[in-house]
Amino acid sequence: MADKACVLIVGTGFSGLGMAVRLKQAGVDFIVLERAGDLGGTWRDNHYPGCACDVQSHLYSFSFEPNPDWSRQFAPQPEIWAYLRKVASKYNILPHIRYNANVVNARFDESTSTWVVTTADGRTFQGQSLVWGGGALSNPFIPKTAGMETFEGEMFHSAVWRHDVDLRGKRVAVIGSGASAIQFVPQVAPKAAKVDYYQRTAPWVMPKPDFVRSDLSKKLFRSFPALQKLARGLTYAMLESRVLGFVVHPKIMNMLALVGVRHIKKYIKDPAKRKAVTPVFKPGCKRVLISNDYYAALARENVNIVTDGIAQITPKGVVTQDGQSREADVIIWGTGFSVQEMVPKGLFQGLKGADLCDVWSRKGGAEAYLGMTVSGFPNLFFMMGPNTGLGHSSMVYMIESQVQYALDAVLLMREKRLKHVDVKPEVQEGFVTRMQSKLKGTVWASGCKSWYLNDSGKNTTLWPGFTFIYRKATRTFRAADYAVKPGR
Ligand SMILES: Cc1cc2nc3c(=O)[nH]c(=O)nc-3n(C[C@H](O)[C@H](O)[C@H](O)COP(=O)(O)OP(=O)(O)OC[C@H]3O[C@@H](n4cnc5c(N)ncnc54)[C@H](O)[C@@H]3O)c2cc1C
Repeated sequence: MADKACVLIVGTGFSGLGMAVRLKQAGVDFIVLERAGDLGGTWRDNHYPGCACDVQSHLYSFSFEPNPDWSRQFAPQPEIWAYLRKVASKYNILPHIRYNANVVNARFDESTSTWVVTTADGRTFQGQSLVWGGGALSNPFIPKTAGMETFEGEMFHSAVWRHDVDLRGKRVAVIGSGASAIQFVPQVAPKAAKVDYYQRTAPWVMPKPDFVRSDLSKKLFRSFPALQKLARGLTYAMLESRVLGFVVHPKIMNMLALVGVRHIKKYIKDPAKRKAVTPVFKPGCKRVLISNDYYAALARENVNIVTDGIAQITPKGVVTQDGQSREADVIIWGTGFSVQEMVPKGLFQGLKGADLCDVWSRKGGAEAYLGMTVSGFPNLFFMMGPNTGLGHSSMVYMIESQVQYALDAVLLMREKRLKHVDVKPEVQEGFVTRMQSKLKGTVWASGCKSWYLNDSGKNTTLWPGFTFIYRKATRTFRAADYAVKPGR
């Protein structure tokens, strides 16, 4: 017998919990399915040393649950995870969560107009709507590398950090130079005997405007919530102005390059190292990173920057394409997440048994109306879906916009007694065409290879504009954009 609810939610990160809170407040029944044994998504899984957000915490948090007590301007992972646990408990979401529920199939049953969801352990759940908050950065990516299974030391990905592996005095190979690596390398380098840092492309890393929040500021925010709202608003406006560089006039980003180069020069004196860490693309084309200790760590004598590609892993270490072999006791993969393989085959089956993986393959990549709904897959709402990621501000802002839209749809279906809503193909197509044409002139299309683009060069990940425009577009669910099936 399937466990039933009006709405099934997948995931317990910001998306799943945000959706759950709003449904709870609206009096709609729901079940939350989480594949892990605890809640928290990104902030449960990524506990590598140095992990913190890179958007100011007063903005990188729910608008309905301000936290006056963030210890720093950019809070570390344990605080963000604790914040999410507090939200789940305060809004009484915990009884709705089913843990160890790894969703392996979601099938739209046309006879009942419901989603029937199956988990890896054989449980089934049924709901009129399905909200997918499975995360865009939740599946660690390790590139298939010859010989990797032969390595005799310890090897792990940054998103499944092995705290039991003592790095003191060890020869550590770090592979990858993305957002996570720039946070953990400064923590690893002082402990390790030696770090070989395998960097395919040098990222732009700007100074981080981080600081400890004083007791006085916490007290003021606690006593005068309007003050905290104001601080959040100012941060929002400041970050939003970056869209001018990313989207409107990418030439502005050249100025950022000056800041980046000065940042490198401040910490790195060795000309060869300077050259190795100086990016060769426009800032913003790949994610702009922020750190105050990254370049100082790379400048250390025990850190060796390797820019040659990796040919193979051997039992003793890493061999690069120039034939050089470097021994390692530990290999840490900082190679990010499988972003472009968002939907495996067999996971979603919509009308007439269509498989979403096939549908998106035929279209040359993931696409959805407002990044949320896909024609032929009624009552399915993606959180952080295609083209709703950001390079300039808080994803929580986007997630809250999506939650509002999905909630509005659920309430409308309830009020009008609709069986299902299915976005019209021409509406979806019009949206996607507008997105892709807007993306053409942006900094992300300025010629670098990044995880924002799929293999055919299509940007399936980013929202090309101001987030308040997205919020306006998602404020209300427009039934006219959908084919509706009445008669619930
Ligand atoms: C290290 C790191 C730092 C980041 N920092 C920032 C930042 O500073 N600012 C910012 O805006 N964004 C940041 N991000 C992006 C971040 O992912 C989003 O901001 C946000 O946390 C995503 O929330 P989510 O709930 O959509 O997904 P997630 O937090 O990834 O949660 C997804 C949940 O779904 C579960 N799940 C997945 N698949 C299934 C399945 N098949 N069945 C059941 N459960 C499933 C997962 O276990 C997980 O709990 C960061 C990401 C990472 C990895």
